[in-house]
Amino acid sequence: TDLAHIRNFSIVAHIDHGKSTLADRLIQETNTVSARDMKEQLLDAMDIERERGITIKANTVRIEYTADNGEHYVLNLIDTPGHVDFAYEVSRSMRAVEGSLLVVDSTQGVEAQTLANVYQAIDADHEIVPVLNKIDLPASDCDRVAEQIEDVIGIDASDAIRVSAKSGIGIHEVLEAIVHRLPAPTGDANAPLKAMLVDSWYDSYLGVVVLVRIMDGKLKKGDQIKMMQTGARYGVDRIGVFRPAMQNVDELGPGEIGFITASIKQVRDTRVGDTITHEKKGADKPLPGFKPSVPVVFCGLFPVDSAEFEDLRDAIEKLALNDASFSYEMETSAALGFGFRCGFLGLLHLEVIRDRIEREYDIELITTAPSVIYHIYMRDGSFVELHNPADMPDPSKIDHIEEPRIKATILVPDEFLGDVLKLCQDRRGIQLDLTYAGARAMVVYDLPLNEVVFDFYDRLKSVTKGYASFDYQLTGYRADNLVKMQILVNDEPVDALSTMVHRDRAEMRGRAMCEKLKDLIPRHMFKIPIQAAIGGKVIARETLAALRKDVTAKCYGGDATRKRKLLDKQKAGKKKMRQFGKVDIPQEAFISALKMD
Ligand code: GDP
Ligand code: MG
Repeated sequence: TDLAHIRNFSIVAHIDHGKSTLADRLIQETNTVSARDMKEQLLDAMDIERERGITIKANTVRIEYTADNGEHYVLNLIDTPGHVDFAYEVSRSMRAVEGSLLVVDSTQGVEAQTLANVYQAIDADHEIVPVLNKIDLPASDCDRVAEQIEDVIGIDASDAIRVSAKSGIGIHEVLEAIVHRLPAPTGDANAPLKAMLVDSWYDSYLGVVVLVRIMDGKLKKGDQIKMMQTGARYGVDRIGVFRPAMQNVDELGPGEIGFITASIKQVRDTRVGDTITHEKKGADKPLPGFKPSVPVVFCGLFPVDSAEFEDLRDAIEKLALNDASFSYEMETSAALGFGFRCGFLGLLHLEVIRDRIEREYDIELITTAPSVIYHIYMRDGSFVELHNPADMPDPSKIDHIEEPRIKATILVPDEFLGDVLKLCQDRRGIQLDLTYAGARAMVVYDLPLNEVVFDFYDRLKSVTKGYASFDYQLTGYRADNLVKMQILVNDEPVDALSTMVHRDRAEMRGRAMCEKLKDLIPRHMFKIPIQAAIGGKVIARETLAALRKDVTAKCYGGDATRKRKLLDKQKAGKKKMRQFGKVDIPQEAFISALKMD
């Protein structure tokens, strides 16, 4: 296809504003998929994505469209992941296209992820077409939302397209706008090959599939290629486009988006953002701005049943082959035995991986407290990157500790503003900005990532009844008065419950954790002290009273089946627990104990 008849675009939106539904309609309206094969949310492939209503991996589809002017166009839609954990993948897929549809729910207005995503589009120099969705709903207020887009984002929304992705109103106008308002790509077919590696994933039939955007040159089947950042070399086995099913083509030229397969063994060998060129007569400079995505949140994953350690290793290795941003190494814990210390892009990423292990591999897990990476500067001038509070060096040898900070943007209706400010303040936040956009306040806070990874988002949702939206970016490291707090159960330290806390908040956190654990740990035949300590010093304490009598006592005098049933029930309950010294601690305690309410 010649460049003038190609349009590449993405759809940016806050979650639930209708991105997937609009993509479905565009596919349907252009008869890209036969009615028989059409199913809802065509682009959201993975089960977990469907269930959680989020798009994790970028997906793409090639749509052919004959416009009102009679010309035939190829439209490539790249669907970007909408969640903050995957910000780097979003920014790369944005660089692969020239324009964006900015979808805003006209009953809701601009939200935090609308802003985060549209700023990424603006950074990538996109032409942006605002689309006001859900006009079928009585609460739709397009004029107000258009005005808000102009005020808050600063782009012209006077010719925003008004649509209902659900009932199909305005879809034709969207297609015409893509053709007439978005620019065609540029590129030189005769220059050395430069293709951007936009995404890659593992397919059980084809092996690793790589999504590419050709910038310059041509890519053909059989070509010998190399990845400029990793230096890996391959021969191209297969080349094609997504409609959205895979369809082979002979070659891809400038401006085109498609896939290749090349007997690549694991997704780890393909880095999002890398530049692909020919092995011979290749480009001499890669595309700018490559940075591998790095894990920012770490936690330990241990099997509840220690006999499942090898199964867990197998599951983690398989998942890691498919996800270059997930890292792991073996870890041994005095209390939990053998497991893995794993690194994630964020909490959602953590949850997704944990869910997949439990669900697809049927392994019950104990997840230890998530931790960010601390930078520890030692007195002797050396430096430690701390991924696990259990590995904290001797405090007397530490000069100072730095923690990662974020810039958080929160949009919230006025009535909840007070609660949000309090929440941010409680989490050691520093207010940077407070402005108004329509009936919403936009607050920007500098916060320690540590105070956010755990349950900040849940708390935010609950104090604002779900009306707030939130987005963040990492800004850097800053020193603060941080200490390691240990939890002792029955006088034994449980390292999986160790956390890094700010000194001023340690007593409060310690007390809260001890109280929680007192409720979470079942009573035993003996009294159990639960303590929080810094260094050797106990800062909070609770005591779990002993069970008064044997649970089976009331069954004495007869019914043996009933007694056995009761014991069986206890045993089943116990499966989800692990023994620490003489104490059984239930699995959920490890997460729940850390939530601050
Ligand atoms: P995404 O998270 O941006 O991909 O949003 P979805 O496309 O999954 O849509 C979120 C919800 O809004 C779904 O329940 C859709 O059925 C609904 N929805 C999407 N577009 C419209 C619309 O135009 N009108 C109405 N009434 N509902 C819509
Ligand atoms: Mg979606």
